[in-house]
Amino acid sequence: MLVVQKYGGTSVGDLDRIGNVAKRVAKTKFKGNSVVVVVSAMSGETNKLTEYAHHFSKNPSKREMDILLSSGERVTASLLAIALHEMGLEAVAMTGRQAGIKTNDTHTFARIESINTDAMSKELDDGKIVIVAGFQGINRHGRVTTLGRGGSDLSAVAIAGALGADACEIYSDVDGIYTTDPRVEPRAKKLDYISYDEMLELSSLGAKVLQSRSVELAKKMGVKIIAKSSFSDNEGTTIGEEREDMEEVLVSGIALDKNQARVSLRGVSDRPGVAADIFNILAKEQINVDMIIQNASAEGSTMLGFTVPESELEHTQEIISGLEHDIEGAEFDKGICKVSVVGVGMKSHSGVASATFTALADAGINIEMISTSEIKISVVVDEKFAELSVRVLHEAYQLDK
Ligand code: ADP
Ligand code: ASP
Ligand code: MG
Repeated sequence: MLVVQKYGGTSVGDLDRIGNVAKRVAKTKFKGNSVVVVVSAMSGETNKLTEYAHHFSKNPSKREMDILLSSGERVTASLLAIALHEMGLEAVAMTGRQAGIKTNDTHTFARIESINTDAMSKELDDGKIVIVAGFQGINRHGRVTTLGRGGSDLSAVAIAGALGADACEIYSDVDGIYTTDPRVEPRAKKLDYISYDEMLELSSLGAKVLQSRSVELAKKMGVKIIAKSSFSDNEGTTIGEEREDMEEVLVSGIALDKNQARVSLRGVSDRPGVAADIFNILAKEQINVDMIIQNASAEGSTMLGFTVPESELEHTQEIISGLEHDIEGAEFDKGICKVSVVGVGMKSHSGVASATFTALADAGINIEMISTSEIKISVVVDEKFAELSVRVLHEAYQLDK
């Protein structure tokens, strides 16, 4: 079997843990498998490097950021190879470039365009364990790029897809995908199986256990992911195609995203094209707008509200201040969060929206914004109710049963 294993930041968080990973990798190799390992930087390292850059600049060059941030993963890849050598195993560490990972030009948030697997295949054919520094590739100019936060998950899925691996195992500090973040609701239950679409919603709505782009790519390439813990031998959760029996389950999970901010624009001119203008400018600046609401027009002007990731709020504020002639005023609020209920069963059952609103109302939680899609309902609530909302909804849908 050809196995791709990805170990996240906490799994390689210190030297002992890198040693622990080496043992797990060795065990997989001894079973007769070909093994490719993708590693993250040691936990906290990417944040630390980012802070270093911000010491010198509020807005550091993204190109230089990529060289800086990619170094974290190189450290763990090489240390893991050295640890394996000491155990008598042949292993070779590679940067993203050496592993043949080509991306587009979007520094700090690049997309993988192709993987030339020749170098990895050659080392595998020679019987070596291949260790790839996650989260990085190169663009057509030969410059280092990184794949966005959590991007080592994407490296692992892309490599598994390109090599046609039999398994893509993603190791973290939880032993699978739970009905909600077990740190928020200790009664959360581990799922044996979850569909790509549900996982994609959970990830893009805030469950950082898997990077959403990695799930998107796994679906596209048909890569089955198994989420497991590097600290136990428990069975993990498989992420794959939707199965027929799944629509019987109304709600599979709940996601929480505290890194959202709300923008409220007052006195927006009520004429065709104004909303288009505003959102075109935001899109051009690559601001991720979500949850848009517009209320009824009063005396020729309306109120427009939307959410953006907190990290993009400052940039949004700058853009909005350039729109003075179209709006009367703007408010920005970081004290909100987004709570989402996800399940493929919603496609064929009604009443999830009302049950969600009722459960929150009974707990005295005011809903400030709502958005829905075929398999999810998201609400914006005051950040002080973040954890409570998750627990209330977890209980309402009896996800602990
Ligand atoms: P790594 O550093 O290994 O990539 P992450 O920290 O990115 O790991 O992801 C694991 C964390 O995801 C867990 O510690 C857990 O708190 C969080 N998490 C959020 N939602 C879920 C969920 N539904 N199931 C499991 N873990 C979740
Ligand atoms: N080190 C990067 C991050 O923290 C990538 C990863 O761990 O997946 O986002
Ligand atoms: Mg992660």
